[in-house]
Amino acid sequence: MQDAKLTAKAHDDHGTVIALNDQITVGGDELLIVGGPCSVESLDQMEAIATQLGQHTIQALRGGVYKPRTSPYAFQGMGEAGLAILDRVRRRYHLPVITEVMAIHQIEAIAAHADVLQVGSRNMQNFDLLKALGEINQPVVLKRGLAATIQELVMAAEYIAAHGNPNIILCERGIRSFDNYTRNVLDLGAVVALKQLTHLPVIVDPSHAAGKRELVPSLARAAIAAGADGLMIECHPVPEESVSDARQALSLEDMAALVESLRPIATAVGRTLPEAIAPREPALV
Ligand code: PEP
Ligand code: MN
Repeated sequence: MQDAKLTAKAHDDHGTVIALNDQITVGGDELLIVGGPCSVESLDQMEAIATQLGQHTIQALRGGVYKPRTSPYAFQGMGEAGLAILDRVRRRYHLPVITEVMAIHQIEAIAAHADVLQVGSRNMQNFDLLKALGEINQPVVLKRGLAATIQELVMAAEYIAAHGNPNIILCERGIRSFDNYTRNVLDLGAVVALKQLTHLPVIVDPSHAAGKRELVPSLARAAIAAGADGLMIECHPVPEESVSDARQALSLEDMAALVESLRPIATAVGRTLPEAIAPREPALV
């Protein structure tokens, strides 16, 4: 691959393990399952997900507070109030949180309150943003652009690495096609290719690929079978009431069932899922 000096795989066993916090990693044998709503809506919403899914079903929480919406009139995210919610849930449940950064000026506040910064599809080639994310050390989830080639995704990751941050997690989330029955086309060939081309962890977001909740579990299982290092899936305590991406959100029960259904597939491809453990008492913060 052209010029991928830092992200290219040097040999077959070359794989980078990235720590999300002091307990959770991605890129090793254990799969990373990230769950949460499209948008952070309230403390109650995030607490419900953390108490029902945290500690056993998911290893990290997602939730957008700065939302790149197609319409300027649609909900744009809770902003700083949402960051405070993420920070509280992350401390209380010791779950790493992932949230989207849309602009350079948001980096400092997000880095202070979240564990992982997500670059959304619409910003995959915002090169100034990528350079600025190279200046921090926290992990970055880099989502594939709406119509970006595999080469363009790798070179976007290379920007972050070249500017000093090696902690990059690639995310396949579907690409545009002529067919809008599914919101996007999940490119599992890209997952296989990215694992061969780069040493970076690759996770899959079947929610934005499918756009329809009933398609998500099968795509998630296929992604693990194809060699993905983890999944990022949208779920919500009351999916139909999600303020954004309601049609693709899973209920918390369906999310838990999906993760259980991954176990035989994980075993078949030599990966593990964390064992279900009894929920802990949340920390008093
Ligand atoms: C999201 O993760 O909520 C999101 C906006 O995803 P994408 O950038 O892949 O469209
Ligand atoms: Mn979404």
